[in-house]
Amino acid sequence: MPELRDLYQEVILEHSKAPRNYKALESANQKAEGYNPLCGDRFTVYLEMDGDKIREIGFQGAGCAISKASASMMTQSVKGKTKAEAERIFERFHKLVTGHSHEHEAELGKLAVFSGVSEFPVRVKCATLAWHTLEAALEGKQEKVSTE
Ligand code: ZN
Repeated sequence: MPELRDLYQEVILEHSKAPRNYKALESANQKAEGYNPLCGDRFTVYLEMDGDKIREIGFQGAGCAISKASASMMTQSVKGKTKAEAERIFERFHKLVTGHSHEHEAELGKLAVFSGVSEFPVRVKCATLAWHTLEAALEGKQEKVSTE
């Protein structure tokens, strides 16, 4: 996507090539699977919850650069957070990538690199797949999450 700003593109590519926390957690006590049929992105998110807190997080799967980079950066941003805090970050992230609000861009830190995605509606599903999957894992839902 040459239209995305170069710096942002660089961060996304870097994360998609070397995703963080890319592992199936042996210690996981909650997990969920997510699928974006529009693009073929497919991820499993693993959580090791300590009460209400995300002690460990990992993900595995396959997808486009945006979906993978988003999953990678998601794991970094919610690790150590409570369920409520993680949901709040997702809410802000969702507003950012859908172009509804840029007011929390600064609070989102590195996640702000995805703001350009709002110009590409099809890509919004790629960017949010891992987050929807995280939400399902947090809720302990067993059914597969689909963006469609
Ligand atoms: Zn995708």
